[in-house]
Amino acid sequence: MYTNANCMAASERKVENEKCLTDSVEETNEVQTVKASSSIEHTTYSYATRDTSSVSDFKVSCNPASAEEKHWLDRRNQILASLYGQCVGDAIGLLSEFMNRQEAKYHYGLHAELEYHHKYDDFHRSRWAVGDWTDDSDHMILIMDSLTENNGLVLKTDFAQKMVNWMKHGFQDIGDLGGMGIGATTLHTLRHKDFIEYPHKVAEEVWIFGKKDVAPNGGVMRTSILGIHDWWDTDEVVRNALEICKTTHRDPRCQASAVSVCVAISLMLQQKHYTNGEYNIPDLINSVYKYAKKCLDSRNKKKSLKSYLECKDLSELDLDEAHSLGYTYKCLGAGFWALKQTNFRDALQQIVMHAGDADTNGAVAGALLGCKLGHFEKIPNTWLSNLKHKVWLDDKIEKYFEILKRRYLLKKC
Ligand SMILES: [Mg+2]
Repeated sequence: MYTNANCMAASERKVENEKCLTDSVEETNEVQTVKASSSIEHTTYSYATRDTSSVSDFKVSCNPASAEEKHWLDRRNQILASLYGQCVGDAIGLLSEFMNRQEAKYHYGLHAELEYHHKYDDFHRSRWAVGDWTDDSDHMILIMDSLTENNGLVLKTDFAQKMVNWMKHGFQDIGDLGGMGIGATTLHTLRHKDFIEYPHKVAEEVWIFGKKDVAPNGGVMRTSILGIHDWWDTDEVVRNALEICKTTHRDPRCQASAVSVCVAISLMLQQKHYTNGEYNIPDLINSVYKYAKKCLDSRNKKKSLKSYLECKDLSELDLDEAHSLGYTYKCLGAGFWALKQTNFRDALQQIVMHAGDADTNGAVAGALLGCKLGHFEKIPNTWLSNLKHKVWLDDKIEKYFEILKRRYLLKKC
C-alpha cells in the first residue's frame, strides 16, 4: 500500500495512532468481556454452504459453553499477534528491501533500535510513507476482505478480482493511487485476460512459460491469514492455502511454502506441541513438514524443503544474494528461523540487517513469531502504534473476526 494523500504530520499521526491503539484495546476488551459474561444459551446462526452457486442459509441451534468463549478470547489475542506481526514485519522490512547487507549496515548499523522513521528514502523506499506496509500485507488484507465479504468462504475468483482491482487502484479509501511493489510472476498472471475467470489455469500457463523453474515468494508472503481462517481444521487450512496460492503461484515449492506457514500457524492456534507455556518447535516443524512435503514429488525436493524449515542460522540463507533474493524458500527459511527466536524486535531487526527481500521475509517472520509469542503486546509498541494505517486495519480485522468467531463457535455445535 502506498499513499500520497491524507498524510498527517508525524507527531499528529503518532498521537492519533497511540490513542486509537489504546482505545481499540480497551474498547475491544470491554466488548468481549460483555459478550463473554452474557451466556449465549441458544443462538441461531446463519451459515453459508461452500458451494457459492447455491449459497443457502440454514438454522443451527448452538449452545457454546463459556469455556469456548474464553478460548476464543485467548486465540483472538494470538491471532492479532500474527496479523499485526505480518504488517509490522513488512513495514520494518521495507527499511532494507533490495539492499545488500553492506548497504543495510551503512544506513542502519548505528541504530540499536530500528524505527520506521529511520527509513532511508532512496527512490524505491520514498514511494511509501513512514510506517506503511507494502504489497505483501496488502495482499493478505485482500484475502481477509474476501473472506469477510463471502461469509468465510475461500473463493479464488473473488480473490482474483480483488487482486486486479488492487493492481489498478490500490486501496482507494486510504489514498492509494494503485498497487505497488508487485512481483513479476504475479504481474504476468494478473494481466492475463482470463485471470479473473480461470486464475489457476492462467497461473499454470505462466509457470510453464517460465519453464517450471520460477518459484518466487509472492504466494507465501500473503498466506498467514489462511493459517488463521478455520484454524481448528488443519486439512481445511491446507486446502485453503493451496486454493489461494495457486491463483498466481503454481510451482510446487510455492505451494509447499504456503502450506508450511499456514499449517504452522494453525497448529499453534490449536496449541499443538504446546506444554508448560512453550511450543516444542522441532516437533511443530516435523508436523508442518508432514503436510507440506505432500506438495513435492521427489526425495531431493522434500529434503530441500526440510532444510529450510530447520534453518537455525540466518546467514546460511544468504538473503541478499542478488539473483535469488525473491526465492520462496529463502522467505520460508527466514520465517521458520524467526519461529525459533524469542524476542520479536531482535529477530526482525536481524532480518532487516540481512537485507534482500526484507519486507517479504519480515512479513512471514512476523506472522509466525507473533503467533508463537501469543500476544500482540510482544510486538514493540512503537512498531505497532506507528503503523500508518493501523486504525483502518483494526476495522477490517474486527469485521473479519465477526465471521471467524461465528464459524469457531458453530463448529462446536
Ligand atoms: Mg513488498
